[in-house]
Amino acid sequence: MAAPSRLKATSASPGVATGPAYVAEPVAAAASPPSSLSGHAELGDAIRTATRELQNLVTETDPDSGDIIEFQIEVLQDPTLTEMVGTRIDAGENVAFAWVGTLDGYILELECSEEDQMRARAVDILDIKNRVLSILTGTSLDDFPAGSIYVGRDMEPSRFLAHDWSAGGGIALYGGSAVGHVALLARSRSIPMVIGAGEFAIEGGQHIEVDGDLGVVSLQTAKENTTPARSDRPATSTALSADNGRLRTADGSQVLLSINVNAPDEVDSIPAATAAGIGLMRSEFAVTSLGDAANEEKQFAIYRRLLDWADGRAVTIRMLDIGGDKPLAGLTDASSLRGVRLLLARPEIARVQARALLRTAIFGGLRVMLPMVTFPSDVDNMREIFREESTELARRGVPHRIPPIGMMVEVPAAALMLDRFESADFFSFGTNDLAQYLVASPREDADFALYQDRAVPAVLRLLSQAVKLAGAKPVSICGDMAGDPSRTADLLAAGIHHFSVAPARLPAIRSAIVGLNADGTKAAGE
Ligand code: PEP
Ligand code: MG
Repeated sequence: MAAPSRLKATSASPGVATGPAYVAEPVAAAASPPSSLSGHAELGDAIRTATRELQNLVTETDPDSGDIIEFQIEVLQDPTLTEMVGTRIDAGENVAFAWVGTLDGYILELECSEEDQMRARAVDILDIKNRVLSILTGTSLDDFPAGSIYVGRDMEPSRFLAHDWSAGGGIALYGGSAVGHVALLARSRSIPMVIGAGEFAIEGGQHIEVDGDLGVVSLQTAKENTTPARSDRPATSTALSADNGRLRTADGSQVLLSINVNAPDEVDSIPAATAAGIGLMRSEFAVTSLGDAANEEKQFAIYRRLLDWADGRAVTIRMLDIGGDKPLAGLTDASSLRGVRLLLARPEIARVQARALLRTAIFGGLRVMLPMVTFPSDVDNMREIFREESTELARRGVPHRIPPIGMMVEVPAAALMLDRFESADFFSFGTNDLAQYLVASPREDADFALYQDRAVPAVLRLLSQAVKLAGAKPVSICGDMAGDPSRTADLLAAGIHHFSVAPARLPAIRSAIVGLNADGTKAAGE
């Protein structure tokens, strides 16, 4: 067998994986084009498809079930229903949300009916609501074979999330950035990944090794390579301390250590007592399609699961940070808006999430965090949405509570006027975005790491200034800088005493903190 050729790359997530290559099309070419249909035409198509599916079901089913399906078909054919959805589309709502909003109103009416028979119909309508919704939003990128090594220029976060990594596998990117969203996901799931390998020739199926420890890609020259697929993921430390993430610096000051979570199942292998709670849950990695964004019950179940895990500890759910390089699958209207700006421009998305969060809040220490906040009005306007949805839930008799609402500090303008954010209950520094806007270089670019390193003094100066402006409000940090032990002293010196990090970083940050004083100076004897 010929010796493998080695390519120097940069490590983005540790561990070694070997397997057949899956060579991806360039992202732009592979992405599905935005739908050119109007909302009305999309709705008509989806209703016709759902009707056809139901008609096929009638022929295969018993008479009782047949009656239910006939009733569902009748509802779908009702022109009043289409008109009601159409009115919402004309008012600017996305077709999926117009459909969900109309059907939810109908379901609520049936649920509140005095007649048993009418109440029993609610579930039949729920069924057609979900059937049409999945047709409207069922756009997903092609998956690649389990156990293979993804090779390409870049990778979409939604593709990473949809893939089954249980059989191992890894990622080798020609370009990319270690601070990009996929790298962040790879580290949190312990998937070996390298970036910046440069464009290299490889055939689909050819064996390849990704060494995320050394930052190397090795290609087998013979296609009929016999190296079995394997994946040596970094061992997740078993030496986690059950101190509830409450540590003391060498001179006795308290520091909190929380975890960052991207998907609800990530917490399954982590004992809750090893952290003060969840300092950042990136909801956009759990709510990955327009269908999920319109699905209040699915979101409620995700958030509730995290609160159950936390067992009374704080759980900070960040509202959807979608837009820009984190598109929501199915949201085809092109826009450069991201985070809270997009949510306020598409309030139907924010309202569904707000309702799910309001209902979750009664089960524990939920805190809601807003992404990419720039101005105080961003927080005020979102707070108003929570108030309105709370009033609506109260009218329907649904138990809920308004949780504390805080914000990410990841836009430099917000950091520099933190004292003006009167309606924010807490602040969390997002150094990944702060750095990209400070150095004027997209964080997904290969050169970003270099610029970021050289701009560390600027980021630290900004943080220490912002901590002072925050006054008495709780302040924490959840950007990647929090998980880098070589920066712990600087962050303590800047006045930050609550760190939220990827679970794998807990041991390193814990040992860094105990060797330092509260002001970041080294403890005597260290
Ligand atoms: C950040 O910007 O530092 C942050 C934590 O948010 P994200 O990485 O999800 O953009
Ligand atoms: Mg950010």
